[in-house]
Amino acid sequence: MKAIFREFLHEGLKQEITVDKTLVDKKSRYQRIQIFDTPIYGRILVLDGIIQITEKDEAAYSEMLVHPAIQVLKNPKKILIIGGGDGAVAEEILKYNFVNKIDLVDIDKEVVKLSSLHFKKINKNSLRNKKVNLFFQDAFDFIACTKNKYDLIIADRPDPVGAGKSLFKESFYKNVNNILRDEGIAIFQSGVPFLQKSETKEVLKYVNKIFKKNGIILTVVPSYIGGYMALVWSSNKIDMRRSKVIKRKIKIKTSYYNEDIRKSAFSSPNFLKFF
Ligand code: SAM
Repeated sequence: MKAIFREFLHEGLKQEITVDKTLVDKKSRYQRIQIFDTPIYGRILVLDGIIQITEKDEAAYSEMLVHPAIQVLKNPKKILIIGGGDGAVAEEILKYNFVNKIDLVDIDKEVVKLSSLHFKKINKNSLRNKKVNLFFQDAFDFIACTKNKYDLIIADRPDPVGAGKSLFKESFYKNVNNILRDEGIAIFQSGVPFLQKSETKEVLKYVNKIFKKNGIILTVVPSYIGGYMALVWSSNKIDMRRSKVIKRKIKIKTSYYNEDIRKSAFSSPNFLKFF
């Protein structure tokens, strides 16, 4: 009889996934870390019982956190990834040879170590790339104390539970704004609005108080059950909906993102037009 992984993220809804092999099941200082090989999603990373990333659909998430923003930024050199310990977002950014510094702040060294070992298909060894500087601390503290300024800040954060809670406080967004360059963009993972509308709404409430321009990018990541996922974008100078993609010589290979997807991603249904 094959093992089953069950996710109970949403009240009254569970996701059951058949497991071929359990590669990791251990507790770090911060969370339970599980890595499974599954027939339906390939290899998956689970933290405290919640799916973080799967081989099957990670592109729909990590590509949409990176490409819509980086492609309208004139000369992004320094990028900050909050969370992102699986290396998927870093891998997308490394496709742009003009980026020379990626600071990645993940609270859990174990996640980074295990992702380097088990998720090479997703991160292509991005976590070992010399452009990527790893910091193992609460990103809330890092952001509050760093003197660095960034062109792009990507909050590849988990749900607002456990260690992730500090990354959803109003002061978190204020601190992000303090370290974002004037022409910069910040992108925040903001839940699946059909089932986590209050989470998405709260993010929008805070960013609308702090940044001059804000909006939502929608993407579909089947393993984050509940319909599309909202990625809230913020900037003080750039309106992502109206910005043109900057023509560059480098050819970027993606499996989900393209120009049509980029344009359509800014369209929101009425129930999300509350900002
Ligand atoms: N794609 C996932 C999602 O949408 O939920 C997020 C994936 S990423 C692996 C989440 C990372 O955030 C984990 O590696 C976790 O260790 C890290 N993390 C959680 N709380 C954190 C905090 N306060 N500071 C820095 N990293 C944190």
